[in-house]
Amino acid sequence: MSGTALRLSKISKGYGTSQVLRGIDLAVDAGEFMTLVGPSGCGKSTLLKILAGLDQPDDGVIEIDGEIANQLRPSKRNIAMVFQSYALYPHMRVRDNLAMPLIMANLPFAARMPVIGGLVPGTNAKRRQINAAVGEVSTTLGIEALLERKPSELSGGQRQRVALGRAMVRQPGVFLMDEPLSNLDAALRTQVRTELVELQRRLKATFVYVTHDQVEAMTMSDRIAVMMDGAIVQIASSAEIYAAPADIRVARFIGSPPINILPADIGDQGEVRLFGESENLRTDLMPGDRAQIGIRPEDVIVAAQTTLRSACSPHEARIRLIENLGNEVILHLNIGGETEVTARLAQREWSAIRESSSDPNLVRVGLPPQRFLVFDSTGSRVQTEEIRDSKRLEVVS
Ligand code: ADP
Ligand code: MG
Repeated sequence: MSGTALRLSKISKGYGTSQVLRGIDLAVDAGEFMTLVGPSGCGKSTLLKILAGLDQPDDGVIEIDGEIANQLRPSKRNIAMVFQSYALYPHMRVRDNLAMPLIMANLPFAARMPVIGGLVPGTNAKRRQINAAVGEVSTTLGIEALLERKPSELSGGQRQRVALGRAMVRQPGVFLMDEPLSNLDAALRTQVRTELVELQRRLKATFVYVTHDQVEAMTMSDRIAVMMDGAIVQIASSAEIYAAPADIRVARFIGSPPINILPADIGDQGEVRLFGESENLRTDLMPGDRAQIGIRPEDVIVAAQTTLRSACSPHEARIRLIENLGNEVILHLNIGGETEVTARLAQREWSAIRESSSDPNLVRVGLPPQRFLVFDSTGSRVQTEEIRDSKRLEVVS
C-alpha cells in the first residue's frame, strides 16, 4: 500500500459549550509512524476516537484509504486501537484473549458455543486458521510462553504486549495507539518503545500514536503532529520540530531542559535587540515591535569567568543550580539579577571551566545570535538573517 492511508479534513468537535477540536486537518501516509503529541487535555484521545469510529465529529470528513468513512462502523474501518489501559479479559487465558477478535469476526454465534459449535459446518477449519493466526502473532511479539496464562499472571510489559497482539491478529492496515506505554515503568517504557518502532517497520502498517511525552514523540516517529488546545500547530519530522518550531508553544513543549525564552525588541534598523543591545540579526518585524528570542540550552556558550572574550556580548552570570547528569551538566544561571538562563554542556567542558575559574559561583555566558529562534509578539516564528559577518566568539586560554 502507498499514498495516503488516512485523511482528516476540518474535523471539529465540542462537548456542551467547550470546543475540543477546532478544525483539524491531518493526512497520514500509508506505512507512516505519525505521532500526535500535546499536553493533557488538548484533544488527542478525542481525535483518535473519531478516527476509530468510537465517536462522531460535529463537522469534517474522515477518509480511510481514499474512501469517506464518517458513516462506517468501527469494525468496518480496518483499524485497530490500543488503549492506555489494556483491558484484557481477566478470566481468559492469553491464547483466548488473542483469539477473541477473530472469533467475533469469523465465527457465527452458534459456532462459538462450546459443545454444539463443533457441529456447525466449517467451524473446525476456521478454528485452525484462528489458532495459526494466534501462533504467528505470539511469535512476532515473543509471547509464545505466555499463551496459557491469565492476565493476572503477567507483568505490565507482558500485558501490554498481549494487548498489542490482540490488535494485530486481525491484520489491520492502521493501528491507533492512545498512550499505550504510560502504565509501564521507565526502563520498560524505553524497551517497548524500541520494540514498537521495530514492529511497525516489520508490519509496514500505518501507526497513529498518541502521547503527551515529547521524548516518545521525538524518538519513535516519522512525523510528529503537535497539538495544542484542539488544533494542530505543526506537522514535521522530529528534527524539524526541534530546530525550526513554527510557534513558541511548540518550542517550549519540545526539548528538555526547555528552551530559554528571552524578551527582546526590534531596533531602528530592524535589528533584533536583546538586553537593549543590537544583535547582528534582522527580521521583517517593524522597529519598536516586541519579540521573543528562543535559544536552546545546548546553544548557550559557557566559559570561565575570565576567559570568554567575544562579540556576542558575553554576560556575567551567577550559578544558581548545577544539575550533574554524569555525561553532561545543566547549569541554571542568572544574568543581571533578573534573567534566568539554562545552559547544557558536556561534563568535560564543565570540568575545564571549573579548573580555570577564579570564582566558583560565576561564569561568562555567550548567546550567539545565529542560534536565535525569533518569535513575534503573537508567538509565531519569524525568519531571520544575519546583518553582517557574524562576529566570532573567542575563548582565550
Ligand atoms: P487528551 O487525550 O489530549 O488528554 P481528550 O481528548 O481526552 O484530551 O480531552 C479533551 C477535552 O475534552 C478535555 O477538556 C476533556 O475534559 C474533554 N472531554 C473529553 N471527552 C469528553 C466527554 N465525553 N464529555 C465532555 N467533555 C469531554
Ligand atoms: Mg488522552
